[in-house]
Amino acid sequence: MAGSGSSTRIDPEVYKTLLESTKAIPWKIDWSSMKFAYIGPQIEKLLGWTPESWITVQDWAERIHPEDRERVVSFCVAQSQAGVDHEADYRALTRDGGYVWMRDVVHVVRDENLAVEALVGFMFDISERKQNEEQLLGLQAELQDLSFKDALTGLANRRRFDHVMEREWTEAKANRQPLSLVMIDIDYFKQYNDHYGHLQGDACLKQVADLLFSASKGAHDFLARFGGEEFALVLPGTGSEPARKIAWRCRDAVARARIAHAGSSIGENLTISLGVGTTTPKDDEDAMAFIDLVDRRLYLAKQQGRDRIVTEA
Ligand code: GH3
Ligand code: MG
Ligand code: MG
Repeated sequence: MAGSGSSTRIDPEVYKTLLESTKAIPWKIDWSSMKFAYIGPQIEKLLGWTPESWITVQDWAERIHPEDRERVVSFCVAQSQAGVDHEADYRALTRDGGYVWMRDVVHVVRDENLAVEALVGFMFDISERKQNEEQLLGLQAELQDLSFKDALTGLANRRRFDHVMEREWTEAKANRQPLSLVMIDIDYFKQYNDHYGHLQGDACLKQVADLLFSASKGAHDFLARFGGEEFALVLPGTGSEPARKIAWRCRDAVARARIAHAGSSIGENLTISLGVGTTTPKDDEDAMAFIDLVDRRLYLAKQQGRDRIVTEA
């Protein structure tokens, strides 16, 4: 073939065979008539529509998922009119009524006067890639969920608590609304573990979490596992009286469950201690000091004998 000095020519049939044996589906649209001059026969295998059924750009537009159509058609028309190569992803309708994710890669062909003459391109089946993308998004959401959730109790974790507390603090400040916080700690839990074993300790923590969750459930309330055997309840828009009531409900819910605690120094059943605080945050105040205050009240509840609620000092 080589050696004649003239440039080597490849038989157009070779091009055709190559084009029609790849997975990418080639096509050409004549600009003046807006009709398909060519579409690779592979299209039939992928979508079920025969090559002959692709007559005008209208056929192409009608075979795009209704949710993608407007976006894709107006984008491609604008790019083509501007003479810019482009690509678009969309769901293409199959003959049996299903959809396949496609990527259309479009090249604008111009004549010697630079006027648009035709569009040529390839359609690629990207359904597998899309599926992977969707799977990845699902995993991401799951991971996000996990990173905010305490694995043992299913409650929000400390990290989430920090976020929510900061958010509610800012809200309360902006709206000059009260914000209440209840800190809860299981009494003599070390002894519980010592007596019943760590596994039962875990089950007990889960049970207390469930009891607190049911007892404190309100539209805007937020319960988190603050640490080992400590919980925190954020009550936006809640004044001191209702906050106190909710704290009592929590204390009573645990008492009524009568969880045997042979290692407790103050009774036969498991108890909790609670610190409660309410504030309408001022501009120069930060959440940390408020959390500290409520934590001090919890500490006082311990000092004063446990199984109680401290709302002052
Ligand atoms: P107090 O009445 O003063 O609160 O005494 P306490 O024993 O409850 O408090 P302390 O801080 O001395 O001990 C807390 C215990 O909680 C020790 C730790 O082993 C246990 N704990 C923390 N996290 C977990 C957990 O995830 N599972 C189990 N089983 N135990 C835990
Ligand atoms: Mg404790
Ligand atoms: Mg503790």
